[in-house]
Amino acid sequence: MRTIPHWINGQEVVPASGNFGPVFDPSTGEQQAQVCLASTAEMDSAIATAKAAFPAWRLTSLSRKSEILFRFRELVVANRDEIARLVSIEHGKVPSDAAGELARGIENIEFSCGIPTHMKGGFSEQVSGGIDVYSIKQPLGVVAGITPFNFPAMVPLWMFTNAIATGNTFILKPSEKDPSVTVFMAKLLKEAGLPDGVFNIVHGDKVAVDAILNHPDIAAVSFVGSTPIAKYIYSTGTANGKRVQALGGAKNHMVVLPDADINMAADASVSAGFGSAGERCMAISVVVAVGDIADPLIDAISTRIPALKVGPGTDPVNEMGPLITGEHRDKVASYIAGAAAEGATVVIDGREGALPEKGYFLNPSLIDHVRPGMKVYDEEIFGPVLSVIRVDTYEEAVTLINDHQYGNGTAIFTRDGGAARQFQFDIQVGMVGINVPIPVPVGYYSFGGWKSSIFGDANMYGPAGIEFYTHTKTVTSRWPDPSTSSVDLGFPQTR
Ligand code: NAD
Repeated sequence: MRTIPHWINGQEVVPASGNFGPVFDPSTGEQQAQVCLASTAEMDSAIATAKAAFPAWRLTSLSRKSEILFRFRELVVANRDEIARLVSIEHGKVPSDAAGELARGIENIEFSCGIPTHMKGGFSEQVSGGIDVYSIKQPLGVVAGITPFNFPAMVPLWMFTNAIATGNTFILKPSEKDPSVTVFMAKLLKEAGLPDGVFNIVHGDKVAVDAILNHPDIAAVSFVGSTPIAKYIYSTGTANGKRVQALGGAKNHMVVLPDADINMAADASVSAGFGSAGERCMAISVVVAVGDIADPLIDAISTRIPALKVGPGTDPVNEMGPLITGEHRDKVASYIAGAAAEGATVVIDGREGALPEKGYFLNPSLIDHVRPGMKVYDEEIFGPVLSVIRVDTYEEAVTLINDHQYGNGTAIFTRDGGAARQFQFDIQVGMVGINVPIPVPVGYYSFGGWKSSIFGDANMYGPAGIEFYTHTKTVTSRWPDPSTSSVDLGFPQTR
């Protein structure tokens, strides 16, 4: 049985205590590896390693940090097929999808390569007589990232590239469901010249997460995962005095106005609804059909779904792989049954049709006449189930979305520029696509939803990531000019 080790102080570590969790192949349901699950003591010792590595890494020049990140980027590109393969065998997504996730993650490395520019502060000359003010950014110390199963390469890259570029040392706690790819990337970081101890991986479950949240030497925590856990991470981490950004779940609506191109909208809803088996936090889960476009749009979506090829990612013919676990597959399927019981129309039932005998597969589903108050609408499903809500007006569509508990992503399909501009103004959602169904911001912007899709004020990666991983220090300076020196008990003034 393959064992997935921790990565601590620049080497693989398999503790003698030997606490392991299973890693399954979702395409077969069989265990393919075991992953180390850290105890509190093991986490504490990894944090001590990261703490010891911090002073020297902080002193390392910006140019040297940038050089290491450039080299890391080249190594990731050179190894992209192997990285995609590792993602695919443990997550189950098809390799082309895994390659897509990596391509977006590479953007985060590229952004971090520009760290000498991102670390620039401000400078104001002569704020008062002979006095200058400037601000500098300094790293926080040891920071941690806790990541979900659905983007095992990209989401860690959202975090650690900026965290180490800004001079912090890092503890990554990846999802225990598909952890191998992070260890592979850690080896590339070492090959790129990253000093030992700057980047560490400690696998585990709630025990490891709690050890991070309770450790006094962890200055900040980045989390991406489901909303209940995000809330827990945020409340526990901040109660312990840490800086926390915790991104949660989603329910993304795609509004289709009557003037939209039906084929384009149908292609987009199928791609964004069923890509990665719907296990994307930016997946489209609800199509909001405005006015009389509903019937032709549902027809167009219905004709596309049967053509989708569902099966193991190892066969390049397949477009959609399995769900992550049998339990999750059954939960997703229960939403289809529930929707029918609550009065929605199941147009295409993903529980029917041919599927591989083994593994956690489910075919795509399309559900019409969905309404708020139904579980299939109110909750995040995180699977290949696309709901349609019919509304009469644009205003109804906006109210629907703004009333939903989640506010991660949304999209509008229309040919009307004025309507699209009004939508971007009206909508209470963090990331908006205009004729773009999955508007994940490029690496030099930042990622984050609103409402129950995020806890904490800091978005992830890009400029927001630089802010999150640094303290700002503001210096007011005067060089000695004894002729202006006097005692003055008043509050310092600038005029
Ligand atoms: P999850 O919340 O179950 O797990 C995320 C991380 O938290 C994992 O590392 C896991 O080990 C840890 N964890 C799980 N239970 C815990 C507990 N009780 N205490 C402490 N830590 C715990 O999420 P998941 O199933 O891996 O990922 C899917 C979820 O992530 C979906 O809800 C999806 O919307 C969300 N997600 C959000 C974004 C975003 O940017 N907003 C991106 C990707 C995924």
